[in-house]
Amino acid sequence: MPSEITMPQLSDTMTEGTVVKWNKKEGEKVKVGEELADVETDKATMPMEAFESGTLAFIAVPEGEKVKVGALLAVIATGKEDPGEIKKQYASRPASVGVASAAVGRGPAAEAAPTMQTTVKSSPQATAKAEKPKTSYNFDIVVIGGGPAGYAAAIRAGQLKKRVLCIEKENLGGTCLNWGCIPTKALLEDGAFVLKMRTEAAAHGVAFSDLRVDFSKIVGRSRTIADKLKNGIGHLFKKYEVKHEMGMGQLLGPHQVRLTNKEGTKDFTAEHIVLAAGARATELPGSPFDGQTIITSREAMTLPKLPKRLAIVGAGAIGCEFADIYSALGSEVTVVEMLPHLLPNEDEDVSIMLERIFNRRGIKVFLKTKTEKVEKISGGVRLTLSGEKPATVEVDILLVAIGVTGNVENLAAPAAKLELFKNRVKVDDKYKTNLENVWAIGDCISMHWPEQMAMGGYRHPDLAHVAHHEAVLIVERIAGHEREDIDYKNIPACTYTHPQVASMGATEKKLREQGREIRIGKFPFAASGRAMASGETDGFVKLIFDAKFGELLGVHMIGENVTELLSELVLARKLEATEEEIIDAIHPHPTLSEAIMEAAGVGVGRAIHL
Ligand code: FAD
Repeated sequence: MPSEITMPQLSDTMTEGTVVKWNKKEGEKVKVGEELADVETDKATMPMEAFESGTLAFIAVPEGEKVKVGALLAVIATGKEDPGEIKKQYASRPASVGVASAAVGRGPAAEAAPTMQTTVKSSPQATAKAEKPKTSYNFDIVVIGGGPAGYAAAIRAGQLKKRVLCIEKENLGGTCLNWGCIPTKALLEDGAFVLKMRTEAAAHGVAFSDLRVDFSKIVGRSRTIADKLKNGIGHLFKKYEVKHEMGMGQLLGPHQVRLTNKEGTKDFTAEHIVLAAGARATELPGSPFDGQTIITSREAMTLPKLPKRLAIVGAGAIGCEFADIYSALGSEVTVVEMLPHLLPNEDEDVSIMLERIFNRRGIKVFLKTKTEKVEKISGGVRLTLSGEKPATVEVDILLVAIGVTGNVENLAAPAAKLELFKNRVKVDDKYKTNLENVWAIGDCISMHWPEQMAMGGYRHPDLAHVAHHEAVLIVERIAGHEREDIDYKNIPACTYTHPQVASMGATEKKLREQGREIRIGKFPFAASGRAMASGETDGFVKLIFDAKFGELLGVHMIGENVTELLSELVLARKLEATEEEIIDAIHPHPTLSEAIMEAAGVGVGRAIHL
């Protein structure tokens, strides 16, 4: 019997969906579970799997077309039926039922089925494309790099009907989706799950006798998620008509870019060029990465087996997150940091609490300690440490997480004379390089404010959300929109250790050094009913307000899921909410967010639960 495939309802609110891409052609064999097509809802693009095996006999809805939930999408010949006959039958049927009134575009498959009587309107995107103003350049914007800076710039440019090309040498999604934010979070979640099972199962009334961890499955899950997201960017490029080339992009000069890949070399011209080449891990001087025993976070995400002993040099967010992952999974972890605290940019109270918790978990932390010497020895690495805790430490693997270096080698031809600063592209506070209409954003930049703006002390935060916002802002400005500058003093930052750390704005130490009159409200999660119910009472919310006006100057939180609490305070800051307004905003009960309301209340004596 032929099996009809209809538009699935992929969410409670979904009423229609668009077939973004067919992953199988008519006549091809299909197996149960294979991804037949990518379907876009109002919320996301998701794969649609086949529920029956057979031959894909007929595609009723071409790529790009939007149809109602329940509308026929395709037919699979599941038995001995002739797929050709099935196609003939279905192609001659009227197919108007279920086609959404806002149907967009008509792909090649629809042209191949001329008898289909779908009510197809012409694509708004296609119309807009015809209207795009022509310049003498090949593109309005060429973006080099497809990470959060580059892909966001390209997508926003496409949305604004710019003719845009994005050149990426490795993977769409850049470090963030492939080797950074997302795959690490998958590993952190799995580590936390294992740790909880090991240490807390009994308290939750769960008993088992044999806990086994399959490290390769943990790594595999994280890689699958990265791959899915990378493909998602490709779909968005298609949707917004972003042209995309794989290969090395090189700036030849203003308005000129060269693409080099295995097919050869192609030159393009563009009215604007956006450099978004990102950054990579910095080496420890004298100890080059070898990918096996002296590694970067990339290799740390795909190790062939769980290391018995791991040392991490550098206790910023990346170093601390990997310490969290590997100690949770059972490795013996040593962290070495030159500065006085873990997460040295965070408020001291937060760092000190994380140090105590790492200590409790058996992670060895060496603070104010320098790595004097790194020697490769049989089966691993020996570190000679000096400073507050001089020692010799032998490990199987050394992960170096001391910062990142801009990907600026060959980014511009020497003749282009692109100005660099400390291995980054030098830009002003408007992301302008020294070359006409050449802009740079994201991790590859070093920002330089005009002296009168006194922004000294705020180095460029190398974070995906910063890269994203810089991208959107620069493209919108190129398109002629007025946009406010980014407030670099209030960038949210998160570390996904267990417990998590989340912050925004100035630390207490910094404000005191500046002589600001401040009021601090601190509320411990130990006093939160919600935290107790979750069994996660470590940590606190610390809010710093201007003593006179109640302006929110700093947010410093440590605790389970505090990264999800931070956005409330980002918005509060953006809308210039005061201490009193945060207290007066009704926070739902029982939630961890009540700790924010209570912390604000502590400073002015209005906290109820403390
Ligand atoms: P990238 O993401 O590095 O993208 C640059 C892209 O440009 C790359 O794909 C590269 O292949 C390409 N490219 C470079 N040169 C060329 C060229 N010449 N031609 C063509 N293509 C080129 N940030 C957060 O906000 N939250 C987190 O939780 C977080 N976790 C992280 C965890 C780890 C382990 C790491 C390493 C980073 C993490 N980051 C996190 C930082 C975040 O990944 C970066 O800030 C973000 O990816 C920067 O975006 P970008 O587009 O500037 O650079």
